[in-house]
Order: sequence, then C-alpha cells, then structure tokens
Amino acid sequence: MIVLVINCGSSSIKYQLLDMKSEDAYELLAKGIVEKIGLPDGHFKYTPTGKDKVEMTLPIPDHKVGMQIVLEELVKPGTGVLESFDDIEAVGHRIVQGADYFSGSALIDEDVLKKIEICCDFAPLHNPAHLLGISAVSNVLPDVPQVAVFDTAFHQTMPAFNYMYGLPYKYYEQYHIRKYGAHGTSHQYVSQKGAELAGIDLENSKIITCHLGNGSSISAVQNGKVLDTSMGFTPLAGMIMGTRCGSIDPNIVPYIMKKEGLSPDEMTALMNKKSGFLGVSGSSSDVRDLNARVEQGDQRAKLVFKIFTYDIIKLIGSYIAEMQGVDLIVFTAGIGENNARLRRRVSENFAYMGLKFDYDANVAIDGDTIISLPDSKIKVAVICTNEELMIARDTMRIVQNAQE
Ligand code: ADP
Repeated sequence: MIVLVINCGSSSIKYQLLDMKSEDAYELLAKGIVEKIGLPDGHFKYTPTGKDKVEMTLPIPDHKVGMQIVLEELVKPGTGVLESFDDIEAVGHRIVQGADYFSGSALIDEDVLKKIEICCDFAPLHNPAHLLGISAVSNVLPDVPQVAVFDTAFHQTMPAFNYMYGLPYKYYEQYHIRKYGAHGTSHQYVSQKGAELAGIDLENSKIITCHLGNGSSISAVQNGKVLDTSMGFTPLAGMIMGTRCGSIDPNIVPYIMKKEGLSPDEMTALMNKKSGFLGVSGSSSDVRDLNARVEQGDQRAKLVFKIFTYDIIKLIGSYIAEMQGVDLIVFTAGIGENNARLRRRVSENFAYMGLKFDYDANVAIDGDTIISLPDSKIKVAVICTNEELMIARDTMRIVQNAQE
C-alpha cells in the first residue's frame, strides 16, 4: 500500500511517501519539506529516492498551495515517483494532541475532525495546522482515506495517579487539565524495537525510553504500556530542553510576570522559546554548538549539560522506583542517537545497580545498537526513532480494516 505520511506544522509540511509491502518491509519512495508557508520566500525541498533532488524558493501563501506543490511533484514526469494521484492509497497525519479522546489512531471522519478541533485549545500551535493539512489533502485527493495518528495516544494507558495534578478536581472536569505527554509515537516505536533488539519479552518488561531532541521526554513503559512520562498537559513540562524550561516551581511564573510586566502570552513565549539550553547558556539551543563552547571552556554551556544530564538521571531514577526495576534503557532522537558522552555519563550513574556499559559499542553506533555488556543487569540501547514508519503502519492497518 502506498501511504503518504504528513506532518504539518504552523508554517511547514514535512512528508514521506512510503510503499508499505508489509508492517515491517517498506520502501521510501520520496520525502520532502515545505517551509516558510505564508512568507514571500517559501521553500520547497523534494528528494525522490534514486532521482535528482528538487529545490525551489517561491511564495507559498497557505497549506493548500503547499500541499498542491507536494502532490504535483510526486507525479511530475522525470522527478515524480508515481504515475498518478490514484496510486496514493492512504494518507496518515501526525497529530500532536488528541487529549483523552483518542487512545489509538483513527480513520478521519466528521467526528474525528471535531475532536481534533476541540483539542486545538491544548495545542494551539500544532492542531490548527494539522486541520489545515487534512483539509488541503481532501481538496486534492477527495476519495483517499486519511488517518490521524496522535502523539498523545500511547500515553493514554497512564494511571490517574500519574496523570492527575494536585489542582482542584473541577479543573480536570471543566477544562480537561491533566498530563497527556508527547512524543508517544516515538516512545512506542523505540520501546518495541528496543525490546526486540535486546531479546526482551515486551509483555513482561520494564523499559525506560529517553527521547532526547530539541524537545525531550522520558517514559516508563511497563509491559508495553506507558506508566508515566515526563511531559505534561503540554510539551513544556519535564526536563530542560533546547528552548523550553521544563518543569519549574509554578510560583516563578506570576513572579516573573509581575517583575517584568509580561502578559500571559509573553510569559508562555519566554518559557517555550527563550529558556532551556538557550536561556541558561545565553548562546545556543543546539547541542552541537554547546559542545563546541564547552571545548572552549564556556562554563554556562557546561552547566547546561550538567542540568540536562541530572534531569535525565533523576527521571530514570524515579521511573526505576515506580516500576521497581528496569530491564532496558533506550536512547533516541537527535541527542539520544548522537551524543555518546551523554549516554555514557547517564549510564555510568546506574553502575551501582549492575548496569555494565559497553564503552566501545557506545562510540561505534551503527543504526540500532546495544551499548551494554552481555552480562549487564540493565540493558542499554540506541534506537533510531522512526515516527513516519509508525504512522504509515497504523494508516495501512486502519485503512485495510475499514475496507474489509
Ligand atoms: P527535534 O525535536 O527538532 O526533532 P532532533 O531530534 O532533531 O530535534 O534533535 C536536535 C538536537 O540533536 C540538537 O541539539 C542537535 O545538536 C542534536 N543533533 C542532531 N543531529 C546530531 C548529530 N549528527 N550529531 C550531534 N548532535 C546532533
């Protein structure tokens, strides 16, 4: 089944076209990105497998036009990879927030659209863009089934004692304020793939998954189901991140607002865009830049790594306590997959629990790799996350079931 996977942001469309031969066997036919939608210098990049790349800078006024460009390029003689639009059998969309409406992926219909719209309140930057993406696809491919795959769905197994906050209960009832988590598709993929690689029975396992990128979250996955996760009502909670502050004493929020005369929106922007690695270092949100600064003796860049490392250690430690042990710790995403020093530093902290680290494997990562020694009581793995594959798999399954 040929599946188009779409990830719509407020000013971008990322996509991959996959030929799904089965759940596990697939071929990447093309991928690309539309950026700066709404700006005069919109940008389109298209990479068809085995053919020349296409790049264009042109005004792309809205998502509808962006999607049209994406689809037309897929069927263009020369650079196209499809004969016609009819070859696209299904479209899967990444949806950031499904709140407690969705504990799994769903075939998009009027009711699903309405619920995604209600969830816009909890993800004002993301869900409206997803709706634009769905409508743009419907415009060009009106008869192709579309599936919504939610970042929050995998976390829906969390028990109430982990998702409830210590606020008056009425706010949960009135406003649905609770922990939802994020990066669920990634946590699900790497926990399953990690268990497979480590030879662990997922149904009888204690796994901690560390998704460490610009946004970072850690999950406790017990017997294949999420028990706890570090992000909260929104992806601002949990550990320090590239530009997000993570969890802080909530009283700091009104305190800074009063001192600096900030509006709620300005304070939200400060915590989401100007804090984290960027805010503490005063120089960059990117780990590669910060590594270079540490080499030059930058003490604040060094402090960023200390805070980040200890946030990870504290979360792993609390999840070990919750699950009464851990069989496997997984590192994934931009930092998790590429930062050997951080993986070493975090893993060494658990040596006292019998974690035996494989220092050689850690610096010779080749795709999915086990980085603990065979006799380690806690296994450690690096798994390259693949959210697009998860979205394509769910899309194929749901569309095939609907057709039966
Ligand atoms: P996003 O949350 O935007 O998807 P990523 O998962 O791409 O983020 O992670 C971005 C972070 O990963 C950045 O701090 C970047 O420095 C780091 N990173 C990404 N690729 C590499 C690499 N090849 N080597 C070192 N660090 C990397």
